[in-house]
Amino acid sequence: MRRIAVLGSTGSIGTQTLEVVENHPDMEITALAAGSNIRLLEEQIRRFRPKVAAVWSEERAEELKARVADLDVRVEAGMDGLIAVATEASAQVVVTAVVGMIGIRPTIAAIQAGKDIALANKETLVTAGHLIIPMVRERGVRLLPVDSEHSAIFQCLNGEHGNRIHKILLTASGGPFRGKTREEMKNIQVEDALKHPNWSMGQKITIDSSTMVNKGLEVMEARWLFGVEMDQVQVVVQPQSIIHSMVEFEDGAVMAQLGTPDMKLPIQYALCWPERRPMGGERLDFWKLAEIRFEKPDFDNFPGLSLAYEAGRTGGSLPTVFNAANERAVSMFLNRKIGYLTITDIIESAMRRHTVIPNPSVEQILEAERDTYDYIESRW
Ligand code: NDP
Ligand code: MG
Repeated sequence: MRRIAVLGSTGSIGTQTLEVVENHPDMEITALAAGSNIRLLEEQIRRFRPKVAAVWSEERAEELKARVADLDVRVEAGMDGLIAVATEASAQVVVTAVVGMIGIRPTIAAIQAGKDIALANKETLVTAGHLIIPMVRERGVRLLPVDSEHSAIFQCLNGEHGNRIHKILLTASGGPFRGKTREEMKNIQVEDALKHPNWSMGQKITIDSSTMVNKGLEVMEARWLFGVEMDQVQVVVQPQSIIHSMVEFEDGAVMAQLGTPDMKLPIQYALCWPERRPMGGERLDFWKLAEIRFEKPDFDNFPGLSLAYEAGRTGGSLPTVFNAANERAVSMFLNRKIGYLTITDIIESAMRRHTVIPNPSVEQILEAERDTYDYIESRW
């Protein structure tokens, strides 16, 4: 039996994880955590019977407690709740599918409790990769990527027996505004930015994909997961999202992983690794496909990508500032408080004013996050 805890079970990755679990009789859910959607969480509790469930707000946790009083489930709240789910004793693997750097503490707690991590929550690795990677090694747990590009890279490394990566070719769809100039993107509305051409995902990552900030976060995520330098990760636009990423080795050979854009594949691969199991859904038809196109990313009109390279190369607390500024700016854009282009203006401005702390501790990361939020609040 594979016993699984899910942080962020009500979201896009969380619900797809539960669909995967339902298809495998040898998988079992032991703990679930969500933000505030207790209606869906209650349904999930009734269906999967976890031992522990957590919601962020105390009030909603009380409400949930009353709703599931007939069941044998412990309900917790807040950060303690997230950590209780991440460290639930019988779980072997924790799927980190919360959105944002709120995932740092629970991910660290899970690693320290000896759990394998199926990592979707890239913001945690971007901001605290220098702490998490050594911890993973020290505890001897596995860090299995769920992000489709990173799962692809991970699959390209199968059987390579430690052969060195020369370069990672991280593919990007380019998002809904590929080919547009900044001038043409000035009046973009929330509804426009929420329409991703290939993937159906949570709101924050959908906006991040449209600004290319998501690809920037993924370059930093890849750097930590695969132990390469920022400049060994090259972004390649592949508009159909069929090649999920590639690895170039020292002899020039390039390995690629291809498939239809469906997150259930990387989720299932992370949960079943190293086994491959049957999966339903659409398959690639190369007779119909005819061509796969590539482009160079547009760094000028999508400054989020250049800023991410700058943050990653500098390191220390700068990736935290990049990420925190983006989290806040995206939430302001979704609440219609700022225009679309202001998202990357805010990131740049927050990065310029920050004095970098090398090798920050968890406390210093969270302090840099707070400081960035305060700065943004005082200016926008
Ligand atoms: P969603 O917004 O769809 O889901 C986020 C989940 O986190 C929800 O379950 C939400 O609960 C929960 N959550 C939010 N805040 C808190 C909190 N304070 N405490 C506890 N739970 C909380 O996001 P996605 O599923 O799209 O993304 C999740 C992560 O996976 C992100 O880091 C994203 O970058 C990454 N990812 C996502 C992909 C995708 O296809 N969606 C692809 C690759 C990576 P509630 O619903 O109750 O608010
Ligand atoms: Mg991705």
